[in-house]
Amino acid sequence: MKPIEISFEFFPPKTPEGIDKLRATRTQLALLKPKFVSVTFGAGGSTQQGTLDTVLDMAADGLEAAPHLSCIGSSKDSLRAILNQYRAHGIRHIVALRGDLPSGMGEVGELRYASELVSFIRAEYGDWFWIEVAGYPEYHPQSRSPKHDLENFARKVKAGANSAITQYFFNADAYFRFVDDAKKLGVEVPIVPGIMPITNFSQLMRFSEMCGAEVPRWIARRLESFGDDKEAIRAFGVDVVTGLCQRLVDQGVPGLHFYTLNAATATKAICQRLGA
Ligand code: FAD
Repeated sequence: MKPIEISFEFFPPKTPEGIDKLRATRTQLALLKPKFVSVTFGAGGSTQQGTLDTVLDMAADGLEAAPHLSCIGSSKDSLRAILNQYRAHGIRHIVALRGDLPSGMGEVGELRYASELVSFIRAEYGDWFWIEVAGYPEYHPQSRSPKHDLENFARKVKAGANSAITQYFFNADAYFRFVDDAKKLGVEVPIVPGIMPITNFSQLMRFSEMCGAEVPRWIARRLESFGDDKEAIRAFGVDVVTGLCQRLVDQGVPGLHFYTLNAATATKAICQRLGA
């Protein structure tokens, strides 16, 4: 059987304790031999140095590290400065996003959508970067309609993306349909499902509300019933998410991208159960 290609997403830590925690997490997850790791970016450049430092730290450990870059609230000059820095450090893999500005903060910037950022990177850097973009099996929360969102996704890929990573979901059918519909619009790049391990009920509900991912009622009700029993939440979460991943893998997905939230335990347990 073909080995499962996995990748891990981290965020840049803000405190010395956070840096230590991420190093410990990464050391554990590196044993699972990820294809690459990625590091998020705060819209408008709020984590610019943290993203760069974290990416370089991981690259120094021999991991293929891909910074995220969002264009909202940024000028072309500032995006160019960041991309030049990555190129100078030999970074060749990037996750290109629009991002979200905190409400009431700042201007939209010169590039309004991720498709424009992808075109900009291709125009200025040719094939230097392998570009990932984001996909939304349950549709982006601000999209006008599912059809419009799919068309925008296809436009973004055609602007020059090599691959896509999805928002997390718990309904595998939403993912399969999204992939089929994208193919009908001529999308041929791999669309890797984003996987959110479940470790914390209130955090999961908050994130899901923000990003438009549905937590099925049966999952929410079970998690809620565990109250403060962290171990029960973790065990149930690992079961549910491993089941989802297994179904995706059985159907031949091109990989699995884990939103680790800088913690190793749940992601590691799921990967080990999958035999990754
Ligand atoms: P876009 O593809 O630009 O789409 C945004 C919205 O605009 C959609 O509703 C789309 O339908 C619509 N749209 C697109 N093009 C057009 C057009 N031409 N005309 C009209 N409407 C259009 N956020 C961060 O801040 N930092 C991160 O590091 C980060 N990493 C992420 C990683 C992944 C894998 C995913 C799935 C999301 C990530 N996000 C991150 C969140 C992301 O920035 C938000 O979901 C954001 O709202 C949309 O970004 P996008 O790149 O998908 O935008």
